Amino acid sequence: MSVIRQQPLTLLERLYITEVAKGLALTARHFLVNFPRHVVRALGIKVGKGETVTYQYPEERRPFASRLRTRHRLTRRADGTPRCVACMMCETVCPARCIHIIAMEHPDPNVEKMPRVFDIDIGVCVFCGFCVEACPEDAIRMDTGIVEMASYTREGMIYRIDQLLQ
Ligand code: SF4
Ligand code: SF4
Repeated sequence: MSVIRQQPLTLLERLYITEVAKGLALTARHFLVNFPRHVVRALGIKVGKGETVTYQYPEERRPFASRLRTRHRLTRRADGTPRCVACMMCETVCPARCIHIIAMEHPDPNVEKMPRVFDIDIGVCVFCGFCVEACPEDAIRMDTGIVEMASYTREGMIYRIDQLLQ
């Protein structure tokens, strides 16, 4: 490991005038390069790779990668009931312990169980995706594309089964 020691200032640097001028020149150069790009973009013309203008969030959103893990959802069967069979695999594998399931009988005798309660505390979730990987029924996915999950209360961060099924 190399140690970089502080270098003593030269006479010019100690005068500060030249350093201030260099800093101003750098700022001016960025302004003169970026301002025309911003104007061109505002006119709806796509700028090239060197573009430094940010996305005008939330009106304009950057496209997400297809593998991005976003808010969970529960999938349904053809009859509208959850595909989830309340096997508790996701609850067991979750490293953040933020899934809470209570099972009940499914009305179809061919399906053993379904969840009566299925809560995910998004405020605690670390978005690892283990729950999706562990599910044997493809009943839980993280492909909603929803990333805005802020809430003023901790209670508001807990997503219930009806929200997850939407
Ligand atoms: S993504 Fe990870 S932390 Fe979040 S609920 Fe699933 S298993 Fe738990
Ligand atoms: S692993 Fe899948 S089927 Fe099992 S409880 Fe979780 S969501 Fe339901």
